[in-house]
Amino acid sequence: MNSPLFIVVAFMLGAAVGSFLNVVISRVPEELSVISPSSRCPVCERPIRRRDNIPIVSWLVLRGRCRTCRTRIPASYPLVELATAVVWAAAAAWGLENPYVVMSLVIATALIALTVIDLRIHRLPRVLVTPLYVVVVIGLGIDALVSGSTKTGDPSSALIGAAIGAALWALVIGGLWWFSGGSGMGFGDVTLAPVLGATLGWLSPLVAGFGLIAAFTAGAIIGGILMLTGRAQRRSRIPFGPFLAVGWLAAVTVGPVVVDAYLATFL
Ligand SMILES: [Zn+2]
Repeated sequence: MNSPLFIVVAFMLGAAVGSFLNVVISRVPEELSVISPSSRCPVCERPIRRRDNIPIVSWLVLRGRCRTCRTRIPASYPLVELATAVVWAAAAAWGLENPYVVMSLVIATALIALTVIDLRIHRLPRVLVTPLYVVVVIGLGIDALVSGSTKTGDPSSALIGAAIGAALWALVIGGLWWFSGGSGMGFGDVTLAPVLGATLGWLSPLVAGFGLIAAFTAGAIIGGILMLTGRAQRRSRIPFGPFLAVGWLAAVTVGPVVVDAYLATFL
């Protein structure tokens, strides 16, 4: 299933999905339909022609400008398409016959849109977060039936792990939201946390813990850089959704390896 051709096809499909994510990113916060009207330039409102709507390529060919009015098209557009394409290719290489990988791919795709929206408007729209609960229940349910569990072969221990992971993430992120009086962490982060914690806890509660540590480490490094370079003050509200996404991605990919290496070294 993970032949080179299959991975290339997944890359191209992912780029097309990324193109749709750009529509989601620009329209969902405004509560506009993502289906109609078709994509158009936000400035001159000319519909974008099919040949100018090829993911990644069109932005490069047009050098990041609208063909009609020459308005700059932000680099975030091709970057979202590229990131989605890479994630889809990586999942195809990993093995889409594994239900856990398919579920993780859906979550990773949603996290790309959520990351860009959070960076732009400091919000994680509920319409994008809530469906992830359904994705996780169905994904882990199928994984339990098909693979027992991804690691131990015992669905009940994986299920307990998922519950511990969800509780851990909800407590830590919810606690920070509570104690900051909503000024630091947003409530969107609190609703997203159990979804991410559950999927990691399914692998092992320690992987869920590693994900949180990775998220806060990324937040501290980027926050520190922003403060040192004067682009943020101590009281600036830095969106935390992107760091949750980074921590989750690190844990879902290398988390089990890191945890095993840690246990082998220290126990
Ligand atoms: Zn235009």
